Amino acid sequence: MPSREEIEWMEVSARMGDRHLFTPLLDGERIRIYISPADSKRITMAGRCSGFKGEVTDLDTGKRYQVHGAPCSLPECYCDAYVVPLPGN
Ligand SMILES: [Zn+2]
Repeated sequence: MPSREEIEWMEVSARMGDRHLFTPLLDGERIRIYISPADSKRITMAGRCSGFKGEVTDLDTGKRYQVHGAPCSLPECYCDAYVVPLPGN
């Protein structure tokens, strides 16, 4: 039996196809990159925690980023994200 989060993710995935838009902050600027469904799932499953959520690859440039939770406008909620480029790209 899939969890509620897994069902939500499958619905998002069905809408978005093989490329998932991801709009994290990079150096305080909002960027738009496309990531794989697998990367997207990992980030989504990490939930609203403030810490490290995982790594993603920008499908257009091949650059890799570490993803961390960032505060949104709600108290104690870190559903937003910022990225840190990994060395070597
Ligand atoms: Zn939030």
